[in-house]
Amino acid sequence: MTKRVLMLTASCLMTAALGAYLADETPAAAQAAAEPMSKTCRVGPRAREVEIQKIEPFKVFDNLYHVGPCYVSSWILTTPQGDIMFDTSQEPFVDKIIENISKVGVNPRDIKYIVINHGHLDHFGGAARLQELTGARVVAIAEDWTMIDAQDGKVGNRDPKPNRVPKRDIAAKEGDHLDLGDQHLIIHTAPGHTPGNMFVEGLLLKDGANIYKGIWGGGGGGAPGLAGARQGVINANKVAAVQGVQVYIQTHAWQDPNGYPGGGIHERAKLLATRKAGDPHPFVDPATWNARVKRGVENAQKTLVAEEAKAAAK
Ligand SMILES: [Zn+2]
Repeated sequence: MTKRVLMLTASCLMTAALGAYLADETPAAAQAAAEPMSKTCRVGPRAREVEIQKIEPFKVFDNLYHVGPCYVSSWILTTPQGDIMFDTSQEPFVDKIIENISKVGVNPRDIKYIVINHGHLDHFGGAARLQELTGARVVAIAEDWTMIDAQDGKVGNRDPKPNRVPKRDIAAKEGDHLDLGDQHLIIHTAPGHTPGNMFVEGLLLKDGANIYKGIWGGGGGGAPGLAGARQGVINANKVAAVQGVQVYIQTHAWQDPNGYPGGGIHERAKLLATRKAGDPHPFVDPATWNARVKRGVENAQKTLVAEEAKAAAK
């Protein structure tokens, strides 16, 4: 009896919601309805709403899980010898991430490393709590640890409470290796967005009998000015030197400035959810990655030429 009442209530709510939707279906509303989810939570007008960020976790490869939230991604890479977490998001989303870790069947105590992409709060804000919960070693580029430490006790965005920062742990530098189980990762630094700014090559991603080569983080340009432009070229060439990338593991659902060709994380996840046996894996997309890398090198060179001209004119 209780069940029937609940079902009736749900169907009434659905009818009401549908009515409201049809009633205000202006072209703008229709456009908003078509907006990719990755864009909605990263850059859309609703991106600052807390609740839309608290999404359910999903499996992307046999050994890779997205544990949320929507706009900035925390990933868990599992190995037989323990797991590696990439990025921790920030408050007020950490409770949901912890819940999601358990939901995908990962024991928090099996997480051996927490790798921080760079020293911005949306990437490391959850690291203090996760460091305590898991006992994992926390890895960041040395220059970004300084940046992380400096944000202790300050009030960041999205959360009115003062920031807690992780205890300074492993300070990584260019070329460092991170080995765990069957994963042999190589850490790189691409300074610009922050003084450290990491990307990681060598992730082996399993899909049944297939193993794909993944990269986490996309490098990025240098800081403004001539020195930054020179560094930008170094960064772009470093990313381009990584051979055979088949899967780009994004740190954010939506890639600035215009998304990511072929879809951000949540658009590809949608395809993955309805994928049939024999279909290609929607996250395996070397062509789009290679085009991005090529564009990155070209843009970095253009920026350098412009900065050199500016410097010569002085
Ligand atoms: Zn950032």
